[in-house]
Amino acid sequence: MIRPFHRFRPAIVTTATLASVLLSAGAAMAGQPTPGGDGAGDPYYPTDGNGGYHASDYMVSISYDPASHHLDGDTTVTATATQDLSSFNLDLTGLTVSAVTVNGQPATFTRTGAHELVITPAAALNSGARFTTEVRYAGVPTAATGNGWTYSTTGGAFAAGEPHSAATWYPVNDTPTDKASFHLSARVPTGWAVISNGLEGSTTTEAGWTTFHWDETTPVAPYLTTVGIDKWTLQRSTLADGTPVVDAYGSGTDNERTNEARLPEILDFLSSKFGKYPQDAAGGIFVAAQVGFSLEIQTRPIYSPNVGLSTLVHENAHQWWGDAVSVNHWADICLNECFASYAQWLWSEAKEGVNLDDRYRQRVTAMRNTPGYWAGKLYDMGPGNEFTAVYDKGQLALHALRRMIGEDAFSTVLKQWPAAHHAGNASWSDFEKYVGQVAGVNLDGFFQEWFHGTTIPEDKYLFPGQLHA
Ligand SMILES: [Zn+2]
Repeated sequence: MIRPFHRFRPAIVTTATLASVLLSAGAAMAGQPTPGGDGAGDPYYPTDGNGGYHASDYMVSISYDPASHHLDGDTTVTATATQDLSSFNLDLTGLTVSAVTVNGQPATFTRTGAHELVITPAAALNSGARFTTEVRYAGVPTAATGNGWTYSTTGGAFAAGEPHSAATWYPVNDTPTDKASFHLSARVPTGWAVISNGLEGSTTTEAGWTTFHWDETTPVAPYLTTVGIDKWTLQRSTLADGTPVVDAYGSGTDNERTNEARLPEILDFLSSKFGKYPQDAAGGIFVAAQVGFSLEIQTRPIYSPNVGLSTLVHENAHQWWGDAVSVNHWADICLNECFASYAQWLWSEAKEGVNLDDRYRQRVTAMRNTPGYWAGKLYDMGPGNEFTAVYDKGQLALHALRRMIGEDAFSTVLKQWPAAHHAGNASWSDFEKYVGQVAGVNLDGFFQEWFHGTTIPEDKYLFPGQLHA
């Protein structure tokens, strides 16, 4: 994610309140099925996602009328129980559920909290059992710009938001730790078009309606899925290796084409730094709505109007940092944002001849006497503070790390980390250990001061290696 004008603004420094991790009662009594938890255990967002199962696939089928904003949905979730389950939850915000089946049998359901759909199957599910849940639902999605369903100025709509957005339009285990394949079938009045993740499938028309199909087979975190309904201009092409590219331009976004035409060059450049492009498709979605941010939708980022080339570099870098490898907890967000932001520096260095050591020293000098700048934590910054220091102090921290461990080790880290955790999740502490192994030196002090600390790092960490000159 990136917002325009995200440069440093003083933030309230909070001590993260670690809400107790919600765990289900589990097998308190051996063999006795128990309810799955109503949260996946993230300390910042304890009720996001759910416990007791892992989802492996979503088949989302919707019919949407832009004139009335009415959505009819029919979503099938394939999952595997991780405990003996008497009931389990999906996340769904608003909308009215009319029927739920589990393994084809009618199930009972209730709605609780802000977004919990509690499902009780006719028969308990055994730990390890694979099961399918079909949910039929309808209504006008709850608009939540920045966290889900959003209307564009053209009368269209799309879903985008972080840390959660998917539950505003389909029932989902809404946590980045439960990645699954994702298939969308979306029916809209003829004249409208639908863009989403991954590979484009067939398009069928009947009696004034057109149905579009999209398939994302690389496991994807729910907040990185989308549906975009608009009178898109769709532009199709391929990368040199055959990867299909689909770009979607909303009304009035034609001026974005010049930058997006450089997508092959951007992905080539990022591949040279981060390893092979980790997705099966590429492109961009240029919405006709000032949503105030751009977001790294897997395979196909969503862009606010009038973003620059640097934002395209940032969101596509997320295809490695955030999408292919996703956070374990939101406290780990530097693994996404510090790296996507540093990719913008790498681009400036390679394509614009910027001396990054000079840029680094200038920024340190400018901020040296601004304690609030250094107070922004890069790890475990607390809920609501995830998208602040990582964009700016995060760039400095990664440049300092590069000079601390040297060019070879840094390049190895950038290339090998995304491949090692492809289609999975990883934590910041995993990353610290990994870098220490690659560099072969103890980096505890460096990581402590730059990523855990709230004051300006001491000089040996502020000006390591060639920065010392
Ligand atoms: Zn970002």
